[in-house]
Amino acid sequence: MSLDFEAARAVILGRVTISDSGCWEWNLKLRPNGYARVTYKQKSYYAHRLSYMAFNSVFLDFGDSDICHKCDNRKCCNPEHLFRGTRLENMQDAMRKNRLSIGDRHSRLVRGEKSGNSKLKEHQVMQIRAMRDSGTKLREIADVFGIDKTTVSLIAKRKVWRHLNG
Ligand SMILES: [Zn+2]
Repeated sequence: MSLDFEAARAVILGRVTISDSGCWEWNLKLRPNGYARVTYKQKSYYAHRLSYMAFNSVFLDFGDSDICHKCDNRKCCNPEHLFRGTRLENMQDAMRKNRLSIGDRHSRLVRGEKSGNSKLKEHQVMQIRAMRDSGTKLREIADVFGIDKTTVSLIAKRKVWRHLNG
């Protein structure tokens, strides 16, 4: 796999507006998770990921590292605001920025965000599943979210939070 970096740069630049803070904010519709996706040559990419690849002239496969935001602005595609990290580093980075709240270690019931007795947010559940699906160890995920391995396992196996697709 490779990419026509120059053409991809043009695609990105044609769809962003530069904000006061220097973020290149995506002009088009965002996904429910706050990130932008873009189709380029019949393939779908996260816009910030495509931008990182295009401006750094590097192609990343799906299993490769995540592209994280220094600016914490998910719709930003400014390659200067992006860095490579593993999925785990990305999560730890998010925690440092307090985007993720740490769950109660003894919380057992993880029924849904609206039930009021759950410390996990829906996007965290999706992240736990994505991490598990990509092979991250239960222990590592449990540490990142401050929950026990059993809960991680139940979430990953879709035994709880079943109403969430993903
Ligand atoms: Zn930015």
